[in-house]
Amino acid sequence: MSDDISCPLCQGNGLVIVGTVSGEKVIPCGECLGHGTMSSTRADWLERGNEHRIARIERGETLRECARRYGISDRHLANMEHARTAPEFPS
Ligand SMILES: [Zn+2]
Repeated sequence: MSDDISCPLCQGNGLVIVGTVSGEKVIPCGECLGHGTMSSTRADWLERGNEHRIARIERGETLRECARRYGISDRHLANMEHARTAPEFPS
């Protein structure tokens, strides 16, 4: 794929800073696995999954309740929200 874009999570650094009990720590980015880039398709999935998750939380709906309403498994919904599978959310 030649449509790779800079990873939106780590801004292309491949590393992210996380807060831990003992202070801040630099770890390889979990989204691009330290590559600093991801395909534009995956970036699109991440954005759509994230938007869905935020809207669901704003409705006060849990993952399980939402999955039940859609008639899909909790795991499938979680996978879509985390861009592990195509985010084809039922309406
Ligand atoms: Zn990244």
